[in-house]
This record gives sequence, structure tokens and C-alpha cells, in this order.
Amino acid sequence: MAIVGVLALQGAFIEHVHKLRALGVEAREVRLPADLEGLDALIIPGGESTAIGKLIDRFALREPILRLAAAGKPIWGTCAGMILLAKDVDPDTRARDQPLLALMDVVVRRNAFGSQLDSFETTLDIPALGDDPLPVVFIRAPVVSSIGPEVEVLARLRDGRPVAIRQGNLIATAFHPELTGDTRFHAWFVSLAQARREVAAAR
Ligand code: GLN
Repeated sequence: MAIVGVLALQGAFIEHVHKLRALGVEAREVRLPADLEGLDALIIPGGESTAIGKLIDRFALREPILRLAAAGKPIWGTCAGMILLAKDVDPDTRARDQPLLALMDVVVRRNAFGSQLDSFETTLDIPALGDDPLPVVFIRAPVVSSIGPEVEVLARLRDGRPVAIRQGNLIATAFHPELTGDTRFHAWFVSLAQARREVAAAR
């Protein structure tokens, strides 16, 4: 079975760990480079993207995370994790020292829903997960403001803005599927990790 790491530096990591374990998946909290060894996939949780980015560099996690990505292992960023995966942030919403992993060909807009609508729940149609809409929570969430040709949109808001995207082994969601009772997004992500693991083992 695939082993899935959850970056546990700051933010909503424990909810991902619980969700993975509820699915019977081995989940490992990642704080140090050694914790990334032997992982089949990694989740970068929501929280504060600037803080998580600084801690990634402080704990020397950048290079090994980039190696995981280059090895084709699935990496999924939720909310702040989406910001960290993006190649850039709209300048008027970017923190002065905003460290990014810059793995996905998208530009995101931080805190895109303004102060009044900082947090909201809704449902989204995500064809990759089947016909039933997915209940999701947006918490001071980003949106994708510009998207490269290699990036596939998995879900959009009703106004058309992309909030779930995929570029090969990289997935990003502006919302938090770990904060609802629905396990389909995690199960789908684990299936990607499992498939990649089986292909690698067959080589
Ligand atoms: N607003 C946060 C940021 O810009 C993200 C919020 C979240 O991850 N829920 O980093």
C-alpha cells in the first residue's frame, strides 16, 4: 500500500492525516528531510503559505520535495499548499518574502474572496470524483488567476474561476476537502499514488 506524507510544519495537517488513516492508508507526518524518504506521495496542507514556505527552507525540505515531484510522485497542495505549488502569486497579494516551490504553471491570487467572504462552504462538481457534487470549505482561499496550457482544470466555481487543478503528478485545490466528511478526494489522490507505485515496482 502507498505511504502518503503530510507536511506537518504549520496549518491543517492533522485533518489530512486522520482522513488518510480513516481510509486505511499509512500516513506519515513530515517535518524533516528524512521523513520524505520512501514516500509515495505528499500532501501540502492549508495554513499560512508564507510561514509554511519559510519553514520548508529552514528545515531543508525544498530540494527533497522538488526531487519527489521530479520522480513523478503525486503531490497535492490544499489552499496554502496550492499557493506554494504555484509558479507565482498576483503581485498585489504576494507577501514580501513569499517562498514558492513554483512547480505548477499557474499564477494564484491569495485571499481572493476578500474579508467579508473569508470562509464559506459550497459544493463543487468534480467529474474526476463522479456525479455527486463534493462538499468543500474555502478558508481565506486563493483562486487560480492565470493558467498555463499544460494545466487541467478539475473544478471551477460557478463564475468560472478554477479552484482545483492538475498538472501531471501535481494537484492543487483552493479548498479543504479534509474538513468535511467526504473522503472521495483523498481516495482519488491515494489511487494516483498507488498507481504510480505499481508502475515504479513493475520497472
Ligand atoms: N490565506 C492563506 C495564505 O494565503 C491560505 C489559507 C488556507 O490555507 N486556508 O497563505
